[in-house]
Amino acid sequence: MRRILTEAEIETRISELAQQINADYAGKSLTVVGVMVGCIHFLSDLLRRLNVPTRVEVIFASSYRGSATSPDRLEIRTAREFDLHDQHVLLVDDIFDTGQTLQGLSDSFAGQSPASLRAAVLLWKQGREKVALQPDYHGFKIPNEFVVGYGLDFDGRYRELPYVAVLEAHEQGA
Ligand code: 5GP
Ligand code: MG
Repeated sequence: MRRILTEAEIETRISELAQQINADYAGKSLTVVGVMVGCIHFLSDLLRRLNVPTRVEVIFASSYRGSATSPDRLEIRTAREFDLHDQHVLLVDDIFDTGQTLQGLSDSFAGQSPASLRAAVLLWKQGREKVALQPDYHGFKIPNEFVVGYGLDFDGRYRELPYVAVLEAHEQGA
């Protein structure tokens, strides 16, 4: 594995993001919706640096990559019901890749008429966008490589790592 972001770099950057979010939502209260499971470290590290009144919910989203002829499909599940009506909502996800996950969640949440809806991602993979939507807050732009760690998994592994690393193709084999 090749480390591309250290624990210290991630911590510094999340502090900057939190400052920006605190300023943007000053005087308001916030509903943070974490996209499980990849968001775990980012959600926790960001939350503890927010100083606006914050409510936390989580959602489970899985995307099934379609073939060349069928579109990708997004499955959204909630652990419990929550109401976003009139709330300032901040979606928190690990990585913006094609953007289809955040697009799908945004479309779904828009139906609940939130007061505002924004998205924060730790990583923004470049060159893969399939949607017009862009994340409102991002930690780092990264090249088009498969990364693990800091919440991101390969086959259920590596989520616990406190840093982000590229998993080379030969490391993804059986
Ligand atoms: P999307 O393409 O919808 O923007 O991203 C969908 C999901 O794919 C992300 O939330 C993440 O779970 C997964 N994903 C995208 N790129 C990577 C990557 O480089 N590594 C890992 N572990 N997951 C990724
Ligand atoms: Mg995800």
